[in-house]
Amino acid sequence: MEFIDLTAQQKRIRERIEIKISAVLDHGKYIMGPEIERLESELKEFAGISHAIACASGTDAILLALLAQQVGPGDAIFTSPFTFIASAEVISLLGATPIYIDIDAQTYNIKPENLELAIHALLDENRHLYPLPLTGHLPISKLNPKGIIAVDLFGLPADYDRINSIAQKHNLFVLEDAAQSFGAEYNGKKACSFADIACTSFFPAKPLGCYGDGGMCFTDDDKLAEIMRSLRIHGKGRHKYDNIRIGINGRMDTIQAAILIAKFEIFSEEVELRQAVAANYSDLLSPASSELTCPLVPAGFKSVWAQFSILAKDQSQRSRLQKKLQENDIPTAIYYSKPLHLQTAFSKLGYRQGDFPVSEDCSQRIFSIPMHPYLTKAEQEKITRVILNGL
Ligand SMILES: *Cc1c(COP(=O)(O)O)cnc(C)c1O
Repeated sequence: MEFIDLTAQQKRIRERIEIKISAVLDHGKYIMGPEIERLESELKEFAGISHAIACASGTDAILLALLAQQVGPGDAIFTSPFTFIASAEVISLLGATPIYIDIDAQTYNIKPENLELAIHALLDENRHLYPLPLTGHLPISKLNPKGIIAVDLFGLPADYDRINSIAQKHNLFVLEDAAQSFGAEYNGKKACSFADIACTSFFPAKPLGCYGDGGMCFTDDDKLAEIMRSLRIHGKGRHKYDNIRIGINGRMDTIQAAILIAKFEIFSEEVELRQAVAANYSDLLSPASSELTCPLVPAGFKSVWAQFSILAKDQSQRSRLQKKLQENDIPTAIYYSKPLHLQTAFSKLGYRQGDFPVSEDCSQRIFSIPMHPYLTKAEQEKITRVILNGL
């Protein structure tokens, strides 16, 4: 059994994909070919937003967004410690300081109350109010609160009503890390439309994936869009050899855009298939609700189910269940076994075990089971049966 079955999807649309790739081979515009603009236009319409900027990866999308917001040394960016490293590594790469905020135990997304606490702790220079990072030679009072990176973990949007209102109060920008949530919804709006800038990823295993690396930035702000378009091509002005700012080589390959156009044709249908799998999983696992916690989707939210993640009672139950599943040829994964504040890469920030108890607890107990649109009823039943028998 596959954790994410890309072969089943390819079987369905192989011919469409080959036609789209052939068209690129025919016209030969491998860099910034017409497929790039077509993809941007289709996806911005889908997300209900004015601008889409295709780029080389989800990580580059976050880099472009933070560069456009002029993030640099001395800036503090609030984000989740319970996410893939890309959400936070770009903050440090630019010389800015990540300030972690613990997650909500039910949604795994940042908890707005903690965000307020962390902002106040920084403004009052009060580490007793909320854990703050070490800042090296820079006194903490010199750290400038600049923005928030909210992550839509496992495909479920964060609580943007509250995050945006906190941001407004403190004059912070909001970046939606929608790497896992393209296709999700909140309050009738689509993911990638909730913040000043949203960034998604087309890494093959994401809900909408290409056959390599790819990403996209979304915004309603004309000025930010223009800056990100420029940054993506070496900070270009009127043309590539007119350089008006320091940028990156962050373009998406035309071939990847062509593949995404073919995949996007069936994307809405795939999102609905994912809903059915998730609903069935929750039903089938409901007899174990005193032992296992299935994902919660609060009212007004629609997850795109990048992962179906279950909380076990404790670490040893998780190991037992993973082993049982493996014995039955059912792959599992742990997202994430080590929260970012405990990663060696961030050791300079001086965070300690115990700083973010909910993230730490989840990292000990969470595991994800196979999730993709082509998981058969029989497979879903087998997976849940092995789990129920393994308790
Ligand atoms: C995948 C992912 C990224 C990075 O995307 P890439 O395309 O792999 O660079 C960023 N944030 C989150 C939450 C992700 O899951």
